[in-house]
Amino acid sequence: MQVTRINPEWIWNRALRVNITDTYISHTSTDKTTIPHEKPALHRTLMREFEKFLKSTESTIFHEIIKGTTPDNHALYASKTFVTQRKKLIIDWYNAYGPLQVGFAAKLPNEIGVTRDKERPRRNRIDVFMEEAGAVWWVVNVLDRIGGIGAYRDCLAIKPKETSVTTANSLTIEVPNPMLTNINWGAAEAARKGEGVGQILQEGNKNIASPTWQVPYSSLLKWVIEYINQYLKENTYFTNENPWDVTRNSFGKKDIANANKTTGHRITTVAAPRNLSGYIWLLIQQQLEKTPNIDYYPCRNFENCAQELVGTSAISRRKWCSDACRLTSDRENKQTK
Ligand SMILES: [Zn+2]
Repeated sequence: MQVTRINPEWIWNRALRVNITDTYISHTSTDKTTIPHEKPALHRTLMREFEKFLKSTESTIFHEIIKGTTPDNHALYASKTFVTQRKKLIIDWYNAYGPLQVGFAAKLPNEIGVTRDKERPRRNRIDVFMEEAGAVWWVVNVLDRIGGIGAYRDCLAIKPKETSVTTANSLTIEVPNPMLTNINWGAAEAARKGEGVGQILQEGNKNIASPTWQVPYSSLLKWVIEYINQYLKENTYFTNENPWDVTRNSFGKKDIANANKTTGHRITTVAAPRNLSGYIWLLIQQQLEKTPNIDYYPCRNFENCAQELVGTSAISRRKWCSDACRLTSDRENKQTK
C-alpha cells in the first residue's frame, strides 16, 4: 500500500453568518466550497493569519508592561484586544475557508477535566480553534526554519537524513516560542517547564514570554511530530479512491471532458480528511516529509487570495491558485491597457 495523495474528491463548505459567543462559534454553511487543488498550501495561510493575530496584540502586551501589570498568557487571551482580534481571525477564516473541525474528537494528551479516552465536543469551540491555529503556526514555522524556506530563507536548511543523531542533540536552533500560543501540551508544556533557553524575558521585574526559544534540533523534531500525529489521528483516515471510470486530470479530479475515453479500473489508497483540519494537517505532513526538498511561492494574485503554491524550481510553475485569480488578473490587465 502506497499513499501518495489526498482524496481528490474531497471538498469543504465555507461559512456564512458566523457568530461568536463566549465559548462557541456558530455559522451557516454555504454552497461555496474550499477546493483542495486551489489551496495546495492552505496550512501556510493559517500560519500567516495566526502570525497577524499575534502581531495585532503585541501593542497590548507592551501597554501592560508599561503599566507594570504584565498578565500571564491566560489573562492575555482573555483581555479585550485579544478577544476582538481573535474574533476577527475566526470570522475571516470561516468566511473564506470554513470551520476547521465539526463534531467530536478524542481528548488531547494531558487534557484536564476530561475522563481518559472519553470524547469531548469540539464542535466550533473558540478555544479549540485558537489552540489549533497556534499549533499550525508553531509547527509550520519550525518546519520552515528546518527547511530554510519562507521567513527563514536566510537560514541554512538542515538535512534530517544526513544529520547524525548525536549531532542533532547538540544542534541548537532558534524558533518561535510555543508559549505564545494557548496550547498546554507538547512543546508549549516543555517551554513552560523551562526546557531549552530564552523562552522568558525580563521586563522590569516581570517575566514575559520571549518571541523566540532555543532548543536542540532532535527535541524540535520530536515535538513537531507529536503535534502532527495528534491532529492527523483526530482528523484523517485512509480510504480507497472511487474506482476509475473516467480519466482523471492532473489534480486527480474526474474530468467530464474525458467521459468518452475508455480507461481501466484502478485501485488507489488515499489519505482522506474528515474536515478542514484533516486537510491542513495532511499538507503539513507533506511539508514535514519533503523537508528540506520542498518550497512554496505566492500565487500572482497573492495580495488578494493569500494562497501559496507548491514548487521547488522555477520551471513549469503554475502562476495562479485558481481560475478566479487568473480571471481577476486578466480583467485588471485589460483595464490598465
Ligand atoms: Zn490566487
